[in-house]
Amino acid sequence: MVFIIVIIIIILWYIATKKRKNNTNTNDYDSYNNNNNNDNNYSYNNNGTNDFQRYDQTRKSDADIQNELNKIMQKDPEFFKEDFVSKVNEMFMFIYSAWEKRDLNLLRVYETDSLFNLHKGMINEYIQNKQINMLDNICIRNIRLIDANSAPSYDSITVKVTATLNDYTIDEDTKRVVDGSKTQISEFTEIWTFIRKGNVQTKQTHNINQCPNCGAPLDINSEGECSYCRTVVTKGDYGWVLSNIEQVD
Ligand SMILES: [Zn+2]
Repeated sequence: MVFIIVIIIIILWYIATKKRKNNTNTNDYDSYNNNNNNDNNYSYNNNGTNDFQRYDQTRKSDADIQNELNKIMQKDPEFFKEDFVSKVNEMFMFIYSAWEKRDLNLLRVYETDSLFNLHKGMINEYIQNKQINMLDNICIRNIRLIDANSAPSYDSITVKVTATLNDYTIDEDTKRVVDGSKTQISEFTEIWTFIRKGNVQTKQTHNINQCPNCGAPLDINSEGECSYCRTVVTKGDYGWVLSNIEQVD
């Protein structure tokens, strides 16, 4: 339950942040959208609609989604939808595990700057409060691809993930449950949007525990830089990164 509230706060904060970011000029994905309005294939943040309802209002048909996936495949012959879905499955478990461990280094590698900074704030709050948000028995029930966009500069794919888990928060010393229920299984649905630069080629051999660039064991600092190859790997230059999470009722 706490995790759901956290996600809602994150989304609201994220929307507010995006509005502020429209006026900044960083290399981040958010500013890309706002500075390239002529790129009609990639207009997530330009329509100004309520993010919570966006997918109901603007959802593409399956044929249109497939058309965008075909465009990605033309650029990247090693991209396959089935592999992508299985990668999402892996990333979902990876990120949830990092969240539960309160491990900011692990969380860092597959999240864009803005999403990471939001999660970092929430995790630091758990650490300060000496609490751990436990996410037991996570089981992904369904992953459905609900949107895709391919543009020369950026690709994006959005999936709807339905999963079940036991979501509760404990005191780190006493292990006493302070919120949620250890025994109640809850189902939830989240919409995850992944992005990458438009020229990235899928590396079939990449393992989720490796740097997406050099393949060294993951050791990514808070700026997203790998300690081995000194490359920033969190902007989608080397593979898919998570740029947005929306909670669905
Ligand atoms: Zn590296």
